[in-house]
Amino acid sequence: MRLSRAFLPTLKETPAEATIASHRLMLRAGLVRQTSAGIYAWLPLGWRVLQKIEQIVREEQDRAGAQEILMPTIQSAELWRQSGRYDAYGPEMLRLRDRHDREMLFGPTNEEMVTDIFRGFAKSYRDLPRNLYHIQWKFRDEVRPRFGVMRGREFLMKDAYSFDLTKDGAQHSYRQMFLAYLRTFARMGLKAVPMRADTGPIGGNLSHEFIILAETGESQVFVSQDLLDMNALAGAPDYGADLAPAVDAWTSHYAATEEMHDPAAWEQVPEAKRVSARGIEVGHIFYFGTKYSATMGLSVQGPDGKPVVPEMGSYGIGVSRLVGATIEANHDEAGIKWPDAVAPFKAVVINLKQGDTACDALSERMYAAIPEALYDDRTERAGPKFADADLMGHPWQVVIGPRGAANGVVELKRRATGEKMEVSPEDALAKIQ
Ligand code: ATP
Ligand code: MG
Ligand code: MG
Ligand code: MG
Repeated sequence: MRLSRAFLPTLKETPAEATIASHRLMLRAGLVRQTSAGIYAWLPLGWRVLQKIEQIVREEQDRAGAQEILMPTIQSAELWRQSGRYDAYGPEMLRLRDRHDREMLFGPTNEEMVTDIFRGFAKSYRDLPRNLYHIQWKFRDEVRPRFGVMRGREFLMKDAYSFDLTKDGAQHSYRQMFLAYLRTFARMGLKAVPMRADTGPIGGNLSHEFIILAETGESQVFVSQDLLDMNALAGAPDYGADLAPAVDAWTSHYAATEEMHDPAAWEQVPEAKRVSARGIEVGHIFYFGTKYSATMGLSVQGPDGKPVVPEMGSYGIGVSRLVGATIEANHDEAGIKWPDAVAPFKAVVINLKQGDTACDALSERMYAAIPEALYDDRTERAGPKFADADLMGHPWQVVIGPRGAANGVVELKRRATGEKMEVSPEDALAKIQ
């Protein structure tokens, strides 16, 4: 993309409403634009990041055996009456009426709808296990939407739902998602820590939240350093095998949110390894048994011909929240520092003397050779070009000036470290790939 023609609007001033770094930077770098309280339009830069995150989530869900579907945003109140949650959900639910005066709602989550879809098809134990997920906009009328997309009212969530014949089967599905989540966040360049959590209005008795440590996090968390030192990408799990040992390795260390904190158990963690910090919830998984299948009449014929009520779990990832959380974890005074895996562009080619034959030729050559490059071809001074590149946070900056163009070298800057090097165009390409 050529910057001279792109819709990548940046702001010089810091918007007054933004109190945390990620919100400030998302507005300043032109990732989103607020259209109502807690509701955002995604501009090209932000949209590219959102899609990258979505794609990593999708690949890891598929790898773990979940199947993608797409359910609508608008749901019927009738379904929620069947589960008993229509009245219980409270003012966070946006309720609507259609022209026939039918009660509808904008889905805050999809347990009811997916149970309804599944009960329409599943007849026998052979239809189990299954795990269905979608990546869809949700609406929750949060009392205090804030921190930009981190606590929006409309937000993008990946939510998966598992159906199993037995409790053991449901445990296995839960573990598949547990390990898939670790891989998902790690691939995005984030360290998300699984912590025992409260189940809240979803219900059930087994639940983990995945939390990124950050000063601006809304929850207080307690975690052992040993858990923070573990590597989620060491070896891909065999999702068909017994996953208990792999999950136990993660859950054997102390980690809890404030609601689940156990001071006596915390005392057992060596003092030097006790990390108490703030955290951002980016994912949450639940096993809730037959809570929805039983109340909504989902049952299949078991191997012995008797009816069985499937065991269920649900598994959420805050896809749009992750854009903010990634910036919270990767920024400096000058702007964003995108991890490679989710960067909107791999590199920006900065032409310091637009209109100069040698500079233009070398810049065009680099731009053509780098997949997913942005080309700063504006007739601007160097200062604003560097400032925008740092603000937008592209992992690599390829700087081309008259002296370099004459000598056949470019300056390569790594945004994450600030490291700069003079290299040949070929070496620059090799490093960026
Ligand atoms: P929170 O505690 O932050 O209110 P939650 O526990 O209500 O989140 P869940 O029902 O567990 O949220 O939903 C799954 C995921 O969706 C969360 O882990 C979070 O990443 C994301 N999410 C929830 N609410 C919002 C929101 N208002 N804006 C953006 N993402 C959200
Ligand atoms: Mg909430
Ligand atoms: Mg929560
Ligand atoms: Mg939650």
